[in-house]
Amino acid sequence: MSVLDLARPDIRALAPYSSARMEAQGGTVLLNANESSRPANIPGGDGLNRYPDPQPRALVETLAELYGCDAGRVLVTRGSDEAIDLLVRAFCRAGQDAVAISPPTFGMYAVCARIQGAAVIESPLDASGALDVAKLTAGVTPAVKIVFVCTPNNPTGNLVGMDVLAYLAHELAGRALLVVDEAYAEFSGAASAVSLIDEHENVAVLRTLSKAWSLAGARVGALVAHSEVIGLLRRIIPPYPLPSPCVEAALGALSYEGRRVQRHHLNEILTERARMFAELPHVPGVREVLPSHANFLAVRFDDAAGTYRRLLAAGVVVRDITKYPGLGDALRITIGTGNENDRVLAVLRAGAGA
Ligand code: PMP
Repeated sequence: MSVLDLARPDIRALAPYSSARMEAQGGTVLLNANESSRPANIPGGDGLNRYPDPQPRALVETLAELYGCDAGRVLVTRGSDEAIDLLVRAFCRAGQDAVAISPPTFGMYAVCARIQGAAVIESPLDASGALDVAKLTAGVTPAVKIVFVCTPNNPTGNLVGMDVLAYLAHELAGRALLVVDEAYAEFSGAASAVSLIDEHENVAVLRTLSKAWSLAGARVGALVAHSEVIGLLRRIIPPYPLPSPCVEAALGALSYEGRRVQRHHLNEILTERARMFAELPHVPGVREVLPSHANFLAVRFDDAAGTYRRLLAAGVVVRDITKYPGLGDALRITIGTGNENDRVLAVLRAGAGA
């Protein structure tokens, strides 16, 4: 059995759109894509009159090197949000198939599923906040085509061990695709599930330059998966997903100098995370700080709503995560610069009377 047997038959049979840039490369007089031959008269406009490469070779190869896989296993996407959407659309038939998730977790898995008309099977994290593997696998009915596991998990920050992921990959073989979302992996130092793909063709890994690489505004994400899965998604991805300036930004961030700066920023975040994790529990009104392997902390408060409002009034915007199961008293606070984190602590310490 091939992992593609899990995909929608109509998508497998689809004749994909063939863009001008795909059909012919090279040449100097480009009159095949109805572009303007004249660049726009704006700063940085050079080259923007042309459609970008659908999957720029240099970026694909750089990401493959970064994530430790063959270039044929990388699809660059408009943020990893787009990869989630493409996966759900390629594997789930509307009104028939489903995805499985373990709430509280990143909201886009369920949103993309619902947009596609796929059901969402929920197997909540256990009382300690860990993945409940038995419950999750028991929930994988024949309708489930994708199981999403987020590690480190947003919004709790907990990590799922490689042994658990390998077990899940094995359990789900021939039944469902295991999509491991590693958006925050750089903050954890843990090994990547990319290494599982050799042995388990049903594993796919989501990565992004939005977090540890400081490029949320450029919208560059990647899916690392078996080349057959990549080939399938290339059939449905819009023709030119990556704006040229964003590709340039990504290559800059991943250059030798870009990596040096990134390591510096990453270390700063890890140091600040440790400081906030140590200091927050001593702040009045804080009930608990969940240990986090990501660039945020989920913090339980005596009065989460009041704390949210007080921070906002002081100009500090955090994420209200009280709607998530098991987190009814929690806010998610991204680790900022030292000064930004000091500001959070100062507002919290000033208390309700401030
Ligand atoms: N996965 C997780 C777990 C996230 O938290 C996010 C963004 N908040 C994404 C994926 C999407 O990231 P992007 O589209 O910016 O790559």
